[in-house]
Amino acid sequence: MRIDLHTHSTASDGTDSPPELMLAARTAGLDVIALTDHESFAGWDQAERVVAALDLRLIKGIEMSTRTSGESVHVLGLWVDPTNRPLADELQRIRGARDGRVAMIISQLAAVDVVLAESKLAKAAADTSSIGRPHIADAMIAQGYVETRREAFDRYLAPGRPGYVSRYAPATADGIRLIHAAGGVAVLAHAWGRDTAQVLTAEVIADLASETGLDGLEVFHQEHDESARRQLGELAKELDLIPTGGSDYHGLGKQNHELGCNLTPPESLAALEDRQRLWATK
Ligand code: AMP
Ligand code: ZN
Ligand code: FE
Ligand code: FE
Repeated sequence: MRIDLHTHSTASDGTDSPPELMLAARTAGLDVIALTDHESFAGWDQAERVVAALDLRLIKGIEMSTRTSGESVHVLGLWVDPTNRPLADELQRIRGARDGRVAMIISQLAAVDVVLAESKLAKAAADTSSIGRPHIADAMIAQGYVETRREAFDRYLAPGRPGYVSRYAPATADGIRLIHAAGGVAVLAHAWGRDTAQVLTAEVIADLASETGLDGLEVFHQEHDESARRQLGELAKELDLIPTGGSDYHGLGKQNHELGCNLTPPESLAALEDRQRLWATK
């Protein structure tokens, strides 16, 4: 069983539409895929319509932006109820803050002579309900300022670079509680990836787990090297968190994140399903 529990479509900042993503998942030999767009359920229906014919199981999820000690920490919420008001309202608030910061990023970029055309950005963000720096990067590529999203982040959009603007996100513990209250299962994403390894110490993860009943820890992720995977695997065991894995696929938007490059063990999926039954009845 090949299970990939972390992917993005054009409903947020991936480059495959939800149906294209489902077809690509089948081609990659996946049996189970979670669609986890940033702050958005918008891709679920389209994805669901195609999987029926594909012999592919779709898990409907989100990736929620939260904040710990000033850093952006991502939490995967699987099987959340999209009609749950508190969760939907909070996601709306985060998306609103995403919209709100675009003008600031554009003016900061203009100050360093990267002048983005409204039309290029509108095109880059045409299908998304959750605009982010990757769409700004795509507009920069379209105008020839950079070659890749990665270059755009490295030179302009990462923290400390001239186009960086932070945005609102709830505290990580609050985000996890909202996911649970919406009947979902919460998995801490790429904890020791690029930006969060410093703040998400073993101690902080332990506190989060005991305060919130966090369900899982994403162990198998491209931003985790072998030693991070080993240590996070041990931490998961120690804290009774379910170890998961996923590609964090973004289509052409991220190199080296091919579908299925990291997988979730089948016994972990079974454990996540047990947790889902638990939160659904609370
Ligand atoms: P934002 O949502 O605007 O805060 O932008 C963060 C998103 O950009 C992340 O969730 C990733 O999907 C993507 N991202 C971050 N760093 C890079 C990078 N170096 N190259 C490509 N995509 C990136
Ligand atoms: Zn993304
Ligand atoms: Fe993420
Ligand atoms: Fe992601």
